[in-house]
Amino acid sequence: MSGSTGGQVGFIGLGIMGQGMTRNLLQAGFPVGVWNRTASRMEPLIAAGATAAENPADLARRCEVIITCVSDTPDVEAVILGTDSTPGVIKAVRVGALVIDMSTISPQATRMIGQRLHDKGAYMLDAPVSGGSEGAANGTLSIMVGGEAAQVERAMPYFRAMGKTITHVGGPGAGQMVKLVNQILVVNNMLAVAEALLFAQAGGLDLDKTLGAVTGGAAGSWMLQNRGPQVIDRDWRPGFTIDLQQKDLRLALEAADELGVPLIGTSQIYQLYRTLQAAGLGEEGNHALAKALEHLAGITITRSTSARESEQSDA
Ligand code: NAP
Repeated sequence: MSGSTGGQVGFIGLGIMGQGMTRNLLQAGFPVGVWNRTASRMEPLIAAGATAAENPADLARRCEVIITCVSDTPDVEAVILGTDSTPGVIKAVRVGALVIDMSTISPQATRMIGQRLHDKGAYMLDAPVSGGSEGAANGTLSIMVGGEAAQVERAMPYFRAMGKTITHVGGPGAGQMVKLVNQILVVNNMLAVAEALLFAQAGGLDLDKTLGAVTGGAAGSWMLQNRGPQVIDRDWRPGFTIDLQQKDLRLALEAADELGVPLIGTSQIYQLYRTLQAAGLGEEGNHALAKALEHLAGITITRSTSARESEQSDA
């Protein structure tokens, strides 16, 4: 354990995203303390200069700024508010400390956790990210930040070490809301890409030429440009897995339910992804949404001209 702790930034959650983000903080010259539930995941970062904490409370005791990047809402609650077996950040958080949650979780739970920290004299920002594991590794994440302006300013040096586009979008919970807006756009775009390719396939079109003709026009999108060719190649390797995508859609649908707003497209896409999870495809990329439509239509999207098949073999 480290003795001197002045100015240390603490990082909790050394998964796919947290590993790269922590490395970038170290490379920017910040003294970094880390804690991860599975201790072995701390080792490469300790080798790179980080110091290990015993638990989240131990990290909070030593750090003015604590960053979390764990899976889902209950997991952020576990590391910040604590569990029977894990003393959380809140147990030892310093007065005036700043907790920055960079996970994607419920906006409503975010505001509740922020209030609990506020009651202890600490601050919280919600700062979910997009840009995937590559963005985390390269320090090019887009970071959507909710919270007080003065705290956002305080967090900027850390954000700049981890991300490229940093946008203060509003008060507590607004970062999580914007992240969910992002996810609604992503999946509805992907459904449009999959449906369009299925239609093109049924019509016997050359799929590469079709994509070439429409990608630069009004129908163009990041998903079409990047995931369209992957669908034609039947390359289902994930940029973002169906399981994580589904978690984010669940959060969007829960938030929409609280707001009383209908999400017609998103709720159907949630069910389509569910069929893929049921088929054991949760680890594939979110563009494998195309497979759910293929099943319904009995058509396989492929470069082959014999488009119509009774059933796919690979899903
Ligand atoms: P990941 O690789 O699965 O890592 C999850 C991390 O959370 C691990 O360090 C895990 O610890 C920790 N964790 C989970 N539950 C916990 C609990 N109850 N108590 C303590 N620690 C817990 O996930 P990731 O891809 O890094 O994603 C992290 C967050 O970033 C998620 O909210 C995700 O939606 C968001 N995000 C991910 C991407 C992406 O492309 N991957 C892109 C944008 C946003 P263990 O090591 O012990 O399991």
